[in-house]
Amino acid sequence: MFTTPGVSFQFSRPFRTSIRSVTTKPSLGSGQFLRRPLPPPPYSTSSSSGIPGYLRYSPWSKDFPGSWRTRALLQSTVYAIGLVVAINYVDKLWFPKDRGYASPREVKVAIEKLKAAFPEETQVSTNPDELKLYGSSDNSYHPTSPHSVIVRPQSTDDVVKIVKIAVECRMPMVVYSGATSLEGHFSGISTGSICIDMSGMDKILEINEADSDLVCQSGAKWEDINQTLHEKGLPLFFPLDPGPGATIGGMIGTGCSGTNAVRYGTAKAEWFLNLTVVLPNGEVIKTRRRARKSAAGFDTTKLFIGAEGTLGIVTEATLRLAPLLPTKVAMAQFPNVEKAVSAVQDVLNSPYGNQIQCVELLDDKMMSAINQAGLVSRPYPVSDTLFFKIQGDDPAIKLASESISAIVKKHGSSRYEFASTEKEAEELWMNRKYALMSTMGAFSGMRCWTTDVCVPVSRLPQLVYETKKDLEETGLISTIVGHVGDGNFHAFLLFKDQDDQELAKVSDAVHRLVRRSLALDGTCTGEHGVGIGKKEFLVEELGEGTVELMKSIKKTIDPLDLMNPGKLYPDDEKKSSTH
Ligand SMILES: Cc1cc2nc3c(=O)[nH]c(=O)nc-3n(C[C@H](O)[C@H](O)[C@H](O)COP(=O)(O)OP(=O)(O)OC[C@H]3O[C@@H](n4cnc5c(N)ncnc54)[C@H](O)[C@@H]3O)c2cc1C
Repeated sequence: MFTTPGVSFQFSRPFRTSIRSVTTKPSLGSGQFLRRPLPPPPYSTSSSSGIPGYLRYSPWSKDFPGSWRTRALLQSTVYAIGLVVAINYVDKLWFPKDRGYASPREVKVAIEKLKAAFPEETQVSTNPDELKLYGSSDNSYHPTSPHSVIVRPQSTDDVVKIVKIAVECRMPMVVYSGATSLEGHFSGISTGSICIDMSGMDKILEINEADSDLVCQSGAKWEDINQTLHEKGLPLFFPLDPGPGATIGGMIGTGCSGTNAVRYGTAKAEWFLNLTVVLPNGEVIKTRRRARKSAAGFDTTKLFIGAEGTLGIVTEATLRLAPLLPTKVAMAQFPNVEKAVSAVQDVLNSPYGNQIQCVELLDDKMMSAINQAGLVSRPYPVSDTLFFKIQGDDPAIKLASESISAIVKKHGSSRYEFASTEKEAEELWMNRKYALMSTMGAFSGMRCWTTDVCVPVSRLPQLVYETKKDLEETGLISTIVGHVGDGNFHAFLLFKDQDDQELAKVSDAVHRLVRRSLALDGTCTGEHGVGIGKKEFLVEELGEGTVELMKSIKKTIDPLDLMNPGKLYPDDEKKSSTH
């Protein structure tokens, strides 16, 4: 009998053979096999005392109870398993088969090639802190990895050089622009990735005032463009206004919009006339010319809007500009958020609806956060509030305002007022744009998950009502803001840093919000895009056929899947049911 902890074995009959009975001398008698000498046991054969039972009866032990054949078979099996494990390890380390991307050795080769192609020290970085910073975002809680290298191109030709090296070394490429996107869009790739930082390509190349258009590099920021037009005294502006710091390339990548979408539409309207794009094979194309209209074939510009850097790298863009009109800002307070939201459609459908540039909702908690964050010169009433930006000359604004005032009153508004000065109007608007920062400022030490959904405008009151109720029941701290004129709203959900349980609660609440929106014929994202965070909802929202079409386009343009892999397109195994 021998024992292992908790188990005892009793052999019921004597073994027919023992190590001593096995002859090691070769003999070729009839019916006998050639017996090979066995390897010596890995420890002294003189005494087996003190050797644990499992070693004592191992196939290398002199006390092994089986025949020589069993011994040889067991030994060979163990050697074979060891060999397979070792081969797998080396194979994974040096030749990762994951979509055929560069092995660690090839990543090093790619970095050397990039350094040789861009000898200026500031153009290529492998600083570990930077690699981590550029591969992750404080605003995203999706899986991430640091990049392997950051490269800073200055021109389209530079981008072509980078793409060619990436293809040669099979290195994934991730374009990084304003880094304000919210769904893990520019996360690094675990096997290694080249981060292409477009901050050096931020120039305005031409302003064509007579045609109301402008050509710029894709790293230009929308705020800088508008500031330049203002400084030059040109009565024009670019109306897409996503997060502060966003760039033209990123805005094209995410298919953004913003507060002005009520009046001017989104990135998918015709604000981008022509794009210069470096394709995944290094070829440079222009999608159109500068003409305001074109019916020459289908719209290849649109192919890259919302493609999240997965189909090509936009290096230059021709933007259509809008005339700058005088505006005034008004706000209306409501007893609850449903009443506020229900007033919106009436205002937009009124004869003055086309003078409304923006309608934004900030719920009572958001108003309180703005006051608490201390970024305002006077505290605002803490109630669910609609902000309106109204366009026109003074008499036109007066008429529109009277109409809005009457409509909001009908929907239960207790107070309606204009910003008394330009400065106050600007401050009000900045507070809306910086709502996320105000929320973070009011609850310092906490982290914030931002999400957006969009439904047909008439369904918005139901969505907002159910969501507020749900969030209250979860006990999470949250604020709500929305571009409600488009049926689009954002929830900012707060949780304690390092509190995984609360983070899981937030993630569940976001999932419920998205499903609620889909059930109301809405979308999982009105403007922030898919990235990593929303790709699991795409099949449910669009249907398998549409998603397969998107994937086919991706495979045709980028057969090696090198441009921003892992974003936008749902993973094959995660397909959910079609709608
Ligand atoms: C406070 C705050 C408020 C926000 N408000 C809004 C809002 O009102 N509306 C809205 O739509 N969004 C909003 N956002 C989200 C964000 O501003 C937008 O998604 C914006 O369009 C991202 O631009 P970016 O330059 O920061 O892009 P990045 O974050 O750098 O990149 C976004 C995606 O585009 C790709 N990309 C970047 N550059 C290029 C290029 N040159 N060619 C091809 N692909 C490229 C990237 O690889 C990535 O997939 C907000 C964000 C914050 C933090």
